[in-house]
Amino acid sequence: MNRIYLDNAATTPLGDKARQEMIRVMDGLYGNPSSIHAEGRIAKTIIENARKTVGNTINASIGEIFFTSCGTESNNMVLNGAVRDLGVKRIISSPVEHHCILHTLDFIKDQYGTEIIYLDVNKAAEPQLDQLEELLKTSNVKTLVTLMHANNEVGSLSDIHKIGEICKAYHALFHTDTTQTIGHLEIDVNINNIHFLTGSAHKFYGPKGVGFVYIQNEHSIKPFIFGGAQERNMRAGTENVIGIAGLAAALEDINTHRIEWYNQIALLRAYFKEQLLSCFNDIYFNGDQEDQFFPKILSISFPPSTKNEMLLLNLDIAGISASGGSACSSGVETKSGVLDFIGEPADRKTVRFSFSHLNTIDEIDYTISKLKGIFPNLLKETA
Ligand code: PLP
Repeated sequence: MNRIYLDNAATTPLGDKARQEMIRVMDGLYGNPSSIHAEGRIAKTIIENARKTVGNTINASIGEIFFTSCGTESNNMVLNGAVRDLGVKRIISSPVEHHCILHTLDFIKDQYGTEIIYLDVNKAAEPQLDQLEELLKTSNVKTLVTLMHANNEVGSLSDIHKIGEICKAYHALFHTDTTQTIGHLEIDVNINNIHFLTGSAHKFYGPKGVGFVYIQNEHSIKPFIFGGAQERNMRAGTENVIGIAGLAAALEDINTHRIEWYNQIALLRAYFKEQLLSCFNDIYFNGDQEDQFFPKILSISFPPSTKNEMLLLNLDIAGISASGGSACSSGVETKSGVLDFIGEPADRKTVRFSFSHLNTIDEIDYTISKLKGIFPNLLKETA
């Protein structure tokens, strides 16, 4: 059997449409988009068409989309820019954001003395929106709210529509990190009152090393990287034309198949859950399981066991790729802040499985059979 890749929240495989488009650009469309001759103009057209694709996807105008190297860069750009250029004196966030938000907030606090407030989160890692409203209601200080759409570890979805409405009511700026969800879920920046939004191609079957940021026209910030006039003076450096072409092709592809792929992913997750619950004692799932969940992610908590330490390795040996509940950013498993914040006991083991439309029921069955082999002591009598 081929390997079973169930780590699509870490990154997705490159889709066929993105691959074909990147090869087309690689095979001869080598112009520098800043050159005014024919080769340059062709490269420029590729980038501007890609910008249109991103803008149309989120209902933004093309002048509000800027390409970057990844979601991390986009998030750094928004948070730093809001404080440096827009007079933001307070940022409200949550302790379960991605490290590229949390570490940037640490930096901003040190560098600018900006007040940073982390909302409480419930057991499902969802930030408390009553608290957000109360904070905004009781102070006029210029505030940026930065809250992610889907939590990358446990898959809970925040209600960006409600957050947008609260921000609008109290004149706060709203940034949402949609790195996990863009393409997979429909997102409209106008309907949701979003001022800044960030995304990354490698989470929706595009290439690594390319992302984008939406910056609403009225809240324009200054560049984060200085040099040439690329990206309308917002992000210097010769553009990653091949990557941007791949990003746009991947986004068009997922936009076209959104419902079909979503349904396949939701089916796999529901089936996996059902099988796990019917086979094993004492397991449960982290994150919202009722309605505010992102089906791509299933975070499973296994009870204390001597098998836990080697669990991911044993799955890997069995040909199954999944990840720990921790944010793994350098190949080393570090303790997860998110699991701590939701009160997950340290002696249990969390494994995050994350799906794509390319996964199959047979792969889930195989994974269940391997888990049964690893945890015979957890099996229900009926299993
Ligand atoms: N934000 C979230 C929610 C993520 O899941 C990730 C990647 O895992 C990032 C940001 C960083 O994206 P990138 O890998 O493109 O820098």
